[in-house]
Amino acid sequence: MTTNIDPLYDKRIKCIYCSHDFTTKKVRSRASKSISVDEDYCTYFQDEKNSPYLYYVSVCPKCGFAFSEQFAPYFRDDIRVLIHNKIMSKWQGLDFSGKRSLAQAVSTYKLGIYSATLKQEKHIILAGLYIRLCWLYRKEKNKEQEERFMRLALSEYEQSYMNGDYESTEMTEIRIGYIIGELHRRLKNYKESIQYFNRVVTQQNKSIEPGTVKVAREQWYKVREEAKEYAKQQLEAPPEDI
Ligand SMILES: [Zn+2]
Repeated sequence: MTTNIDPLYDKRIKCIYCSHDFTTKKVRSRASKSISVDEDYCTYFQDEKNSPYLYYVSVCPKCGFAFSEQFAPYFRDDIRVLIHNKIMSKWQGLDFSGKRSLAQAVSTYKLGIYSATLKQEKHIILAGLYIRLCWLYRKEKNKEQEERFMRLALSEYEQSYMNGDYESTEMTEIRIGYIIGELHRRLKNYKESIQYFNRVVTQQNKSIEPGTVKVAREQWYKVREEAKEYAKQQLEAPPEDI
């Protein structure tokens, strides 16, 4: 019964910058069954060709502004002018409304990151774009680009954690502290990773999110072991260039 149903559907969107109405593809939830999740929340889907990550960013075909559903809908007057000059006046009218290849999806993230940066969106919003782009590269086994965008995501998460701009989103102090710890672990910044996991497991209000705290404790042990192993390797490594 379900075999002929298109996994994608057209969603009507109004551009938050120029108010143009357009459609963009989204993945039906039953067509995007997840099969596993990495410790930093990267989700793997049964059919990666229909991954919701490919359709996270909407690009207005009229003005070129690119945004996710998390962007705030208002613009400061000076920023409105800036976006007009930097994006709209240069826009070639590319169309991202159809089915997307990985390369097209990557372009939408880069446009989204540029749009968010000019708009001075919250750090948590930029982090959300960078981390998803990092995950797209992880699935492609492109280590260099994965790490590049992981570092950028981490920097945005840290700034968000410090100034609290994640409040009023689905992120909480515990979750964001956890993800920062995990990204530091993946980047082999063991000292910082241990510090953040430590903060999560010793949180006063940790009873609110026992799941995240439990995983943080597991990752905390894991990173301490990794740090020890790493230090041992450094000691055992033969001296270079003698
Ligand atoms: Zn627009």
